[in-house]
Amino acid sequence: MKKIAVLTSGGDAPGMNAAIRAVVRACVYYNIVPYGVRRGYEGLIHSDIKKLSASSVGDIIHKGGTFLKTARSQEFMTKEGREKAAASLRSLGIEGLVVIGGDGSFRGAERLTEEGIATIGIPGTIDNDLAYTDFTIGFDTAVNTVLQAVTKIRDTSTSHEKTTIIEVMGRYCGDLALYAGIAGGAESIIIPEDPVSTQDVINRLNKGKERGKMHHIIMLAEGSGNASKLQEDLLREAGESSRITVLGFIQRGGDPTSADRILASRLGIEAVELLRREESGLAVGVRHSNVFSMPISEAMKQKKKLDQTLYNMAEILSV
Ligand code: ADP
Repeated sequence: MKKIAVLTSGGDAPGMNAAIRAVVRACVYYNIVPYGVRRGYEGLIHSDIKKLSASSVGDIIHKGGTFLKTARSQEFMTKEGREKAAASLRSLGIEGLVVIGGDGSFRGAERLTEEGIATIGIPGTIDNDLAYTDFTIGFDTAVNTVLQAVTKIRDTSTSHEKTTIIEVMGRYCGDLALYAGIAGGAESIIIPEDPVSTQDVINRLNKGKERGKMHHIIMLAEGSGNASKLQEDLLREAGESSRITVLGFIQRGGDPTSADRILASRLGIEAVELLRREESGLAVGVRHSNVFSMPISEAMKQKKKLDQTLYNMAEILSV
């Protein structure tokens, strides 16, 4: 393969820049000409593609977001859109494409193989919601961002002896709440995989109070309920007043941690290695610390499971 393009698609995640850098540098190392596509599949359809070099990805390994920009594309959902996208690549003689994004972007990459383009998917999302890989790029940074916030909120929560509800991202997958909750010493972790009743939360609050604990941190994944509703329920059913902090988009930003930079570098290089071997339609990931790949179609069929051991650990630690 003589030319390879890379793009970022869907929601941004810290470490995407490090992954782009790894793809580009691996290309240069193997005498492949690297190209960058701006604004994901939308840019691909509109031929927003430029040649990159080893130096054009200098000074980005430590930066959050994605310097190639990211977007969502309705047009790419259509066959005509994907034909245009493939034609843009072909007109430049580009045979391979590395897609960095979440599950939607992966499905798009798989469909693009039907248009004769070799594609490889790299998982980039703070949600860690792709079942086939232990970790996605951006997750570790997001956990640390939430952790910093929890640590600060804890100071005030302790001083004022208050209950605080911290709402974090995670519509279907509670990993962010679970990992940050354990690391931040939250007393309650509420995730979509295991719905709990308000009474469960109240019981836990009361247990804490029995041993003299006057503050309580509740980590709530956005997919498992509404923070305002929980606040109202706690007041009505237990006379417990609480404060809410919704962390929102700060969870998506920030400098990537070393773990995310290293993961992004490993997966970026692996994607290029696979394209060099004429592989296509594969998702790269990490399992038990080893880099591996599998067909995107298989990867997308896997259902994300809750790490029950970790979840039980949270229960033990907040006794
Ligand atoms: P993420 O990759 O973060 O999950 P999205 O689900 O928004 O983000 O997907 C990003 C883009 O991938 C979409 O805007 C669309 O262009 C493309 N895409 C998603 N699903 C499909 C699909 N089934 N077929 C073709 N393209 C898709």
